[in-house]
Amino acid sequence: MSFRESISNQKQQRHESGLLRELQTVASGQGVVLKRGGRELINFSSNDYLGLASSDELKTVAREGIQQWGVGAGASHLVCGHQTPHELLQHEIAEFVDAEKAIVFSTGYMANLAVPNAFLSRHDLLLQDKLNHASLIDAGLLCRADTARYRHLDVDHARQLANCASQPQVMVATDGVFSMNGNVADVKQLAELCDREDRLLLVDDAHGFGVLGDNGAGTLSQAGIRPAGQNLMIGTLSKAAGSFGAFVAGDAILVDHLIQEARPFIYTTALPPAIVEASREAVRMMQRQTWRREKLARNVELFRDLSAERNIELLPSQTPIQSILFESPTDATDASRTLADAGFLVIAIRPPTVPKGTSRLRITLSALHEPEMIERLTNLLARLGSDRS
Ligand SMILES: *Cc1c(COP(=O)(O)O)cnc(C)c1O
Repeated sequence: MSFRESISNQKQQRHESGLLRELQTVASGQGVVLKRGGRELINFSSNDYLGLASSDELKTVAREGIQQWGVGAGASHLVCGHQTPHELLQHEIAEFVDAEKAIVFSTGYMANLAVPNAFLSRHDLLLQDKLNHASLIDAGLLCRADTARYRHLDVDHARQLANCASQPQVMVATDGVFSMNGNVADVKQLAELCDREDRLLLVDDAHGFGVLGDNGAGTLSQAGIRPAGQNLMIGTLSKAAGSFGAFVAGDAILVDHLIQEARPFIYTTALPPAIVEASREAVRMMQRQTWRREKLARNVELFRDLSAERNIELLPSQTPIQSILFESPTDATDASRTLADAGFLVIAIRPPTVPKGTSRLRITLSALHEPEMIERLTNLLARLGSDRS
């Protein structure tokens, strides 16, 4: 069989098992209403939890940023791309999440690839939650260290694996909020298990930053701990912050080590300075406009209450990520299509993004959803359920 035939067979197989991924073009800016396929859809699939991506404030700051700084950063951080906006953003993030220091990365994916690799060498151990985000799993593949995965959320299993490790350095890595289930890691217990034995804890807080904790400082803040000592925090600026980029925060001695060692930091161009200016404004808005987080929390509660009333079975989650499981990938995509026909965008998530047998509709709430939108969505979801049984 030729190479092309083999690729084409794979496509056919994916298609037959309902697993083919297809790009859908959105013809509008990000928001609770999107345009797709010539139609307006109420959007329940975005990670723009606070509705900042299309806010007038961020647009204005980004426009002014372009006037002042131009478009591209022109070089990597260590050459001449590390500009005043980057430096200021780092200080402002560190202050916000209560860390000694933060550095910015181009994406959360790159930050996740970078951190385990920068701290672990060949004979060390990276321990991670089974349901960690793909970027942390990829970090494990790229890492020279040994890797092992503990059962989802199971701190005892993590402790057991860590305690019988013979490797000199152990890093435990976890999502703060799990991106597909919406449940939250027990970062306090994980931090204790790391602290006692001089292990590192890496918390990927892509979905907690801006949403949980004091002023939205994230999962660590909510658990009453800090990105300090053995704890390192990664946050993305592309989700609740509505902008683009990411950061790693922690003690200066650790964060500075990344500037020496983290290849995804060293060998790539710095973020566009105008986008960094928008991120700075987003960090200020998270702290200033507390109504966004409060309304988001009310929307999550409303969605869960209405779902309970309508016998819609949700995975346990108190965060804006809410999931409904389906028997097969095709059932999930059919449900997603039915919702789209009714004017709602809810994306079906299928393997390999989620484990086999756990295809789902992944619903994300935003501060900009109106109660009436949530009510209509739950009515439709209830009808899907009764059609299924
Ligand atoms: C989205 C996501 C990332 C990647 O962040 P980007 O800035 O979009 O690259 C990392 N971890 C988790 C858990 C995510 O959901």
